Amino acid sequence: MILTLRPGTKKKEIDKVVSKIKQLGFSAHISRGRERIIIGVIGVNAIRAREIFEASPVVESITPISKPYKLVSREFKEEDTIIPIKGKVRIGGKKVVVIAGPCAVEEKKLLISIAKKVKAAGATILRGGAFKPRTSPYSFQGLGKKGLEYLKAAKAETGLAILTEVMDTRDVELVAEYADIIQIGARNMQNFNLLKEVGKYKKPVLLKRGISATLTELFMSAEYILSSGNKEVILCERGIRTFEDATRNTVDISAIGLVEELSHLPIIVDPSHATGRRSLIAPISKAAVAAGADGLLIEVHTHPEEALSDGAQSLLPKDFEKLMKELGRVAEAVGRNI
Ligand code: PEP
Ligand code: MN
Repeated sequence: MILTLRPGTKKKEIDKVVSKIKQLGFSAHISRGRERIIIGVIGVNAIRAREIFEASPVVESITPISKPYKLVSREFKEEDTIIPIKGKVRIGGKKVVVIAGPCAVEEKKLLISIAKKVKAAGATILRGGAFKPRTSPYSFQGLGKKGLEYLKAAKAETGLAILTEVMDTRDVELVAEYADIIQIGARNMQNFNLLKEVGKYKKPVLLKRGISATLTELFMSAEYILSSGNKEVILCERGIRTFEDATRNTVDISAIGLVEELSHLPIIVDPSHATGRRSLIAPISKAAVAAGADGLLIEVHTHPEEALSDGAQSLLPKDFEKLMKELGRVAEAVGRNI
């Protein structure tokens, strides 16, 4: 249930509403809009609360929520959430933010050279996995802490913000020390303990859609993070599994428009994992920007043939540079910039 307070409601009166909500055994989440204050009443059975607040002079309207997610919904927060990353980078605003880099952190010098190249082409955030979720236990699993140190060195050298994945609740504290954005990978989208753990940190989280997850399930996973206290969640469409086997996964372009309709959170697209094919990165990136995505997550490697993971879907820096120029024109056509 969502309470919309009358414009101009004083702090004392807001506090009274919140303490009443708590007294009734619910939790209250406040969202301050430009004109109005909206309070989400979270609890299993909010009918009793409804009766009480219908009689309150400061409550303008009550909206029951039929959807299972609340804090994530547009009904709860009308304005887009814009997430400040570091320096001037903001995700969810007019600028389409490009996050680029290798699938996995490999060697330090190599990472720094890729970082410099993606920065020169216009990327503002560097990606690279130090903890890698691999289908096979025999594949390269990532460098762990050493990989995080290399990311730190690349950040110091280039000024790029860092996005890196965490797979285990025991590593969240460590990863949060190095990352500007913590990634939750597709395979962990429903690792609820991990979601609750990253929810305790004041650090933006990139939440990837699971390969078999519906949008509602993605929103519910985001709800775990928001309800644990962390409001800075960026959603990521990275393809879902369908009957089509010509690509690694199938990109759900409608997810971009639907997220925009149903949620205030930013949505970015990962054309690399969505397609698994280098040749499809450019067309899918353009489609994503045209459809309104707030950003892109693209794998780039100087020597894809030697990459320890995902070489086949990694762009060469020169192709990435070309794509960035083309994306500038697409962004402009839809009233954004890159
Ligand atoms: C990744 O971004 O490194 C990754 C493993 O992606 P996903 O979780 O989408 O497969
Ligand atoms: Mn990868």
